[in-house]
Amino acid sequence: MSQLDAFLAGERHDDVALYLTEDYLDSQGKLPKMGEAVESGYVLVVPGDDGRRAFAAGTGMDAMEFARGAMESQGHISRDLDGGECPEADATDGDSGEDADGDHAVEFIFAFSEAQNEEVGGLYARGAVVHAYAHCACGASYSDKWVVGEETETGVQPGESEPAEGAE
Ligand SMILES: [Zn+2]
Repeated sequence: MSQLDAFLAGERHDDVALYLTEDYLDSQGKLPKMGEAVESGYVLVVPGDDGRRAFAAGTGMDAMEFARGAMESQGHISRDLDGGECPEADATDGDSGEDADGDHAVEFIFAFSEAQNEEVGGLYARGAVVHAYAHCACGASYSDKWVVGEETETGVQPGESEPAEGAE
């Protein structure tokens, strides 16, 4: 099992996952290409502190500050952490053509997971939760979160703008 698979399975709560596209890394030139190569980018699963440092080095932003900002809007983020659907894409591209993806491609994703917590209730009582935050090429940021093992029943589903489980 790769580190990413273990992270996505909710087995690495002390780690964070970073996804950076090849284009973004090329344009930034600050980070070596590292982590596991996935389609069009790299995913890195590392201990929290290292991850936050790498995130700051790669993006020039503080990871937790970025996450707080991204929390304000919701959009689908790929359960493999290698893409997403920018909520601004619908708003601005009424006649969305084939190039909508080009304008609203994900540049990077930051994610962490939390262990199941019955006391918190809601999603957290159902299982481990993955929190993901994405930054779009258009400048928008958005977030998604889902229960491990219920990836298609929780969080924002493809083509949707609200979490499947509703507001809890
Ligand atoms: Zn966008």
